[in-house]
Amino acid sequence: VNQVGYFVEGTKIGLLAADTTDDVPWVLKNAAGEEVMSGTTSFKGKDALSGDTLHEIDFSSYSIPGEGYTLEAAGLTSPPFSISNEICSELKHDALSYFYLNRSGIAIEADYAGEEWARPAGHITDAEVTCFKGRDADGYDWPGCDYTLDAAGGWYDAGDFGKYVVNGGITAWTLMNLYEQGWDVFGDGVQPIPEQSNDVPDLLDEARWEMEFLLAMQVPEGQPLAGMAHHKLHDEAWAGMPMVPPTEVDNDNTNEIPASGRYVYAPSTAATLNLAATAAQCARIWPDLDADFADRCLVAAESAWQAARENPTIYAGNNPGSGGGNYEDQNVSDEFYWAAAELYITTGKAEYSEYLLASEHFAAVDAFDWGHTAPLGTVSLLTAANDLSAEKKASLQQAVVTFAEQMVSVQERDGYALLIDEDYPWGSNGLILNNMLLMGMAYDISGDTRYLDAVRLGMDYILGRNALNKSFVAGYGTYPMLHPHHRFWANDPAQGYPPPPAGALSGGPNFNPDDPAALEADLMSLAPAKRYVDDIESYSTNEVAINWNAPLVWVAAFLDETVP
Ligand code: CA
Ligand code: CA
Repeated sequence: VNQVGYFVEGTKIGLLAADTTDDVPWVLKNAAGEEVMSGTTSFKGKDALSGDTLHEIDFSSYSIPGEGYTLEAAGLTSPPFSISNEICSELKHDALSYFYLNRSGIAIEADYAGEEWARPAGHITDAEVTCFKGRDADGYDWPGCDYTLDAAGGWYDAGDFGKYVVNGGITAWTLMNLYEQGWDVFGDGVQPIPEQSNDVPDLLDEARWEMEFLLAMQVPEGQPLAGMAHHKLHDEAWAGMPMVPPTEVDNDNTNEIPASGRYVYAPSTAATLNLAATAAQCARIWPDLDADFADRCLVAAESAWQAARENPTIYAGNNPGSGGGNYEDQNVSDEFYWAAAELYITTGKAEYSEYLLASEHFAAVDAFDWGHTAPLGTVSLLTAANDLSAEKKASLQQAVVTFAEQMVSVQERDGYALLIDEDYPWGSNGLILNNMLLMGMAYDISGDTRYLDAVRLGMDYILGRNALNKSFVAGYGTYPMLHPHHRFWANDPAQGYPPPPAGALSGGPNFNPDDPAALEADLMSLAPAKRYVDDIESYSTNEVAINWNAPLVWVAAFLDETVP
């Protein structure tokens, strides 16, 4: 079951895995242990991706709110769950708190974070970083650069201390898009953050923390590749684990000590277009809140676009080969479309509309992630006011609905109502949530409640109605994620490492797990839906990351807002 609960009106499905083909009696009990509904399961058959023989328990018609309900069948009792319209009311705030708790460059204060998660500021020395110089893993010699950047701030990307423009971009976009949806869910004073009484919506305060970092990663005027964005900033060698983020490190700005220092790495076209796209969003969101900031964003967005047009094929490589991820992407046609869409919405200029209308990605909608960003442009064009013709907008809407219709079929095929059309890629939960975002858009466009059900079924999966009987969100459910791959949340309180805070999302099952804990647990001997281990060493199944938590915020806010 969904270990948090089910909305009062709508689909309520539990699943029983039992090796019988017979229908099995089930009962629903309330918190007092009284039977309030009963029935027999409907046999679904053997589920391909989990290997489980599944029986469905449909108690959708029961709609009396309460806490502590359980399902019983075949001698098994489910974890308790609620029936309520507040299923996501706290989750959306906790999921957003993930970002404050992962801020770099600022002390995380107990007043906001809670005593356990407070820590000193991390990496304030990012205020003066220079370019990596030397030989990378591919044998390429990088020349370094004659400048330093003030790139303090931003969020740590995941379990590591890296900060990446290509993953930061989609994450900042997701939070800013949530703001642009216009749902009144994250005003000033609702989040436990230092900016909780500055008359700025707290959602935007959080997004700005990253936006400032993205802006800071742009190559300064007068330098080679001016206007491009550096791809990433991280240590030359991986930081140890577990570890509290250090406040100051030796950046080795003279590039003299091998495998030591913290650097910005070469600019890339993809990073530059991530900057162009998000800065364009920023430029239209902030004018009334901070006109100077909005202007700064607009200048950065247009100069980044120009630089990307002049340097369209600078791809990120395996540089330096350790110390951080690559976020490698050899196709940036989707990033060009996304950036053009954001710039068009903000400026109305023909240059951008001509580009996006001519793009192969216009009115193409499919699953998205940090390396495939075309749907972000489409979603923005359907979210923010712009001058596209009604006919063009209708074609974008149709594309979203067509995708949603495909995904309903995909979800129906899978025993656990998995909402992705591939077998558990790395970060499967993030991809599921991105698809849930698109289903939410489809519901808003069409009003078709099947798409709302699809989002809810997706949340049921995330919160425990899955082959592992596991809630992938820390702090939620009877069996939540406890041991994420995260340097500070190592869940060893005696040593000063807190458990994961409520609202942190695990990456989830991985068809091809590749880490020491996965090997130790022999995950490849299990069905794909079960290739997951709640272990700090399992970076390929149990890492946390900004780009996965952002759609959790978006979807939780959507579900909280959307109670028909
Ligand atoms: Ca605020
Ligand atoms: Ca791409």
